[in-house]
Amino acid sequence: MRPPSVDALSKSLSDIDLPSPLLVEAARIAISNDDPDSAREEAIKLRRALLGPVINATGVLLHTNLGRAPLAYQQPSQATNLEFDLTTGNRGSRNGHVANLICKLSGAEAALIVNNCSAAVILVLAALARNRPVAVSRGELVEIGGGFRVPDVMAESGAQLIEVGTTNRTRVADYQAAHRLHDTALLLKVHPSNYKISGFTEEASVAALNSVGPPVIADLGSGFIDEACHWLRDGRPSWLRDEPAVKQTLESGAALVTFSCDKLFGGPQAGVIAGRKDLIAICAKHPLMRAFRPGALVLKALQDTALAYLRRDGDSIPFWRMAQTSVADLETRAQSLGVGTPIQTMSMTGGGSLPGEEFPSAGIEIEGDVSENLRNAELPVIARVRDSSTVLDLRTVHPKDDAAVAKAIASAI
Ligand SMILES: *Cc1c(COP(=O)(O)O)cnc(C)c1O
Repeated sequence: MRPPSVDALSKSLSDIDLPSPLLVEAARIAISNDDPDSAREEAIKLRRALLGPVINATGVLLHTNLGRAPLAYQQPSQATNLEFDLTTGNRGSRNGHVANLICKLSGAEAALIVNNCSAAVILVLAALARNRPVAVSRGELVEIGGGFRVPDVMAESGAQLIEVGTTNRTRVADYQAAHRLHDTALLLKVHPSNYKISGFTEEASVAALNSVGPPVIADLGSGFIDEACHWLRDGRPSWLRDEPAVKQTLESGAALVTFSCDKLFGGPQAGVIAGRKDLIAICAKHPLMRAFRPGALVLKALQDTALAYLRRDGDSIPFWRMAQTSVADLETRAQSLGVGTPIQTMSMTGGGSLPGEEFPSAGIEIEGDVSENLRNAELPVIARVRDSSTVLDLRTVHPKDDAAVAKAIASAI
């Protein structure tokens, strides 16, 4: 029998929601594999390779592979006042809208929004310390992940790294000595977000470093905005007891802080530099800023997140809604799914933050590894496999997705 033509085969796939060039590609692949019957499978593979929604049942709230903080976001197809001042009718600043809100939340004099925290750190170093020495503790020369290694970032920015102290102990005197010897432009403190050193350790606080002289830059990473946690019903949760917050770090004298917006801030992928007005102005004028500036989509999503904080409405920020859902609520949902075995489990924040911190949660356990079947569901469900069973943690599942989870489990087992 002659194989079907690419054209006829791709037309037979027209019920699949893909533009015809992609259906043609699927038909071509199937024919070139001598297996025309696999065309539908190939088309579905192409569709599943597109960016799309999944259900995060891993219990990792900020799952780096699942887009970190989930986001509720809509943009009408209208023009915006992105760089337009509605009062004067003249050109405005795309940075103004959100930056003012970040200042309200953090008490900073000024703020600058870039694409992520890595960009924020590079911009600060390039704008304020190119060809100048910057002191960093040997205990803070960390790798954050995805190739963000502090010594490499320093080199890329053109700043000269001056290592001070030792891996486990660094004192103010170490920074003072480095400053006397090298005339350091900045003192950089990096929050070792994703690892912990314990035992015989010592580090210099931001407040103590202030006395040395150069501006203190604190790369906080996580974007935990304020210890007071006014946006949470029960205030600061215990798993955040040691996490440095943006507002208090600025109060203790940091000239600038940098942080991610899609970690504990719970917003879109973006980065913030906040603090002294004169230093922010220098960063804003640097040519790299043009390359690092975010678009309107991101800025609007960040603005919505910042407004939710100001309204003290943690439940409208998906990350904080997940974080403050009670175990009792999760247990009730696990019972009413009606599939699998309800269990207690532990969630964690993830996203390279708060290593080792876990908090109680509840979900469903299914015997055997059915994770692949769950991934193949119409709305893919991502679960954890523990020993030889599959665990779905409901803390990271939106309640409106419970029915889809139950359906996926039912067809997976
Ligand atoms: C996560 C993190 C970064 C990198 O942030 P991105 O937004 O992922 O670029 C930098 N510094 C610290 C301390 C971090 O925790």
